[in-house]
Amino acid sequence: MEKFHIAIDGPAGSGKTTVAKLVAERLGFGYLDTGAMYRAVALFLHEKGIKENEDGKIDEVLKKVSFDYKDGRLYLNGKIVGDEIRSAEAAVLASKYAANPVVRKHLSRLQREIADDRKMVVEGRDIGTVVLPEADLKVFLTASVEERARRRWKELKEKGDNVSYDEVLKQVKERDERDSKRKVAPLKPAENAVVIDTTGISPDEVANKIVKIAVERMRE
Ligand code: C5P
Repeated sequence: MEKFHIAIDGPAGSGKTTVAKLVAERLGFGYLDTGAMYRAVALFLHEKGIKENEDGKIDEVLKKVSFDYKDGRLYLNGKIVGDEIRSAEAAVLASKYAANPVVRKHLSRLQREIADDRKMVVEGRDIGTVVLPEADLKVFLTASVEERARRRWKELKEKGDNVSYDEVLKQVKERDERDSKRKVAPLKPAENAVVIDTTGISPDEVANKIVKIAVERMRE
C-alpha cells in the first residue's frame, strides 16, 4: 500500500501531538503537525507587520511561501522552524490568523501537497473535515478543558515559561471559543470520525487504540 492517511483532530491539549507522533512511529508513517504550520505562518506574518485581516497582503505573501517536512522537522522557506513557535504568544497569534479564510486556503493546499500519496499521520483541527476528507482513518480526540489546560501548563512550565495555571485555562477557553466558532473550518469531529475522550487515559493507550484500528483498516 502506497498511501494511507490518518487524520487526528481535536482541541488544544487533547493530546493530539503526543498521540499522533506515537502512532506515526509505531506504524512507520510520516507525521505532519499542521498546528506548527499555523504557528510558523502567524509569526512570519506578524513579524512582517501584516495584520490578521489584511487579506490582500496575506495572499500575496502566502502564494510564495514554501513548506517542507523532512526527518520530523518543519522548514519555512528553507529555514528550520524552531521552538519560537511553542510560546503561549505564538499559540494566540496562530488562532487569530487561523480564523482568516485566506490563511486557511493556503495552508490547506500546502498540507495536501505534503501528505500527497504518502503514508502519513496528519494532526490538526480540520484535517478530517476539510484538508483530507477522504482520509482512511479519522480520529477526534477530546478531554475536559481543565485537563487540557493542565497539560498545556505543565508543558509551558517545563520550557521555563512561568505562566500561571489560571492564565493557561483562560487562554485554552478563549482558543476553544475562537476555533469552534469561526466561520471557516470550525473545530468539530468529522461525521465518520472515531471520537476518543483522553481524560485520564495515557497517550500510550490512546495510540494503541488508534494503531489497532489502522491495522484493521489496512487489512480490509
Ligand atoms: O495545535 P496547535 O495548538 O499547535 O495549533 C495552534 C492554533 O492553530 C490552533 O489554536 C488553531 O487556531 C490553529 N490550527 C487550525 N487548524 C489546524 C491546526 C491548527 O486552525 N489544522
